[in-house]
Amino acid sequence: MLKFNKEVVYTDLLDPREDFRPQKIETEIRTDPLTGESGRLAHFGVIRMQKEDFLAWDTPENRSRCPFCPENLAKVTPQYPPQFIPEGRLKRGQTTIIPNIAPYDQYSALAVMSRAHIVPLEKMTTPLLKDALVAGLDFARRAAARENGRLPYQLIIWNYMPPSGGGLVHPHLQIIVTGFPGNLYRKTLEHSQNFYREHGKNYWQELCAVEKKLGKRFIGSTGAGHWLTPFVPQGLLGEFMVVFPEVKTIADCQEDTLQDLVAGLQRLFAYFEEMGIASFNMGLFFAPVGEAEKYFSLHARFVPRTYLNPQEKPSDINAMQMSLQEPVTVIRPETQCAELRELWGKGEK
Ligand SMILES: [Zn+2]
Repeated sequence: MLKFNKEVVYTDLLDPREDFRPQKIETEIRTDPLTGESGRLAHFGVIRMQKEDFLAWDTPENRSRCPFCPENLAKVTPQYPPQFIPEGRLKRGQTTIIPNIAPYDQYSALAVMSRAHIVPLEKMTTPLLKDALVAGLDFARRAAARENGRLPYQLIIWNYMPPSGGGLVHPHLQIIVTGFPGNLYRKTLEHSQNFYREHGKNYWQELCAVEKKLGKRFIGSTGAGHWLTPFVPQGLLGEFMVVFPEVKTIADCQEDTLQDLVAGLQRLFAYFEEMGIASFNMGLFFAPVGEAEKYFSLHARFVPRTYLNPQEKPSDINAMQMSLQEPVTVIRPETQCAELRELWGKGEK
């Protein structure tokens, strides 16, 4: 039912690193089992992770200029009108939810996650992560309820640190409630619906069952969440996914679901630390209420990000991704899965 199609092609060249002996260099082109979209595995072993000491930016001068630091937040960030959020800003633990002053959509909120200006991955504690996600979910519920089903799509996304495109280093999630889901989410919904019509099954439940059986890309579980490396990763340094096959909408997603998400996230962060990965993007996708609950399950995707080198700081996204919309990955999902599985369970805090 799920097809993991791939094709390997070779470049013939005379290799200067081996006295110009004939050499075959491999490129693997894979097709996503849900969307049918391609991605390629190439440049194996060429990219080294570029770790930066982000803590060096935690200076009084930088903190004084940061809108999310505690001394500035109440003065310089906007509030919601009282008819929507009577308190102006939602608070939970260290998290404060504010409107994005440069919004992407009608409901485009930020969850400022911490009082600290810089929070390295190893300091992302359970309360810090969980409070931000619970508060983000609370905001999404309020916005969705206020619009009474007119904005069916809810998203929580995260740019952590500058290589990921994060413009402010002070940790913050983004919460978007919208009628316009964006291309990946829309395609994922459409293909999940097609899969359901064709096979009478929820793709996400099937994916978890099949990957668990195959064992090559299945990392492990944290409660109701199943962690795996996608067959066609979206990032240069691969991708990680957690699927909650039985959880669908923002109404189904309870605190214990987010607790399971955080438990896995901390193991993932421990792996990132070990591999020198210090930046990533996240997308958390809920099923819209209604028909989609049959064919779509809650899942999140995590893409590690890096500069290609510390001098010129080239982006890890180039014309392949921007101009051709073609992901390129330098590590096999199966290798990455095996690496993470090795320390799965050691990263809990
Ligand atoms: Zn700050």
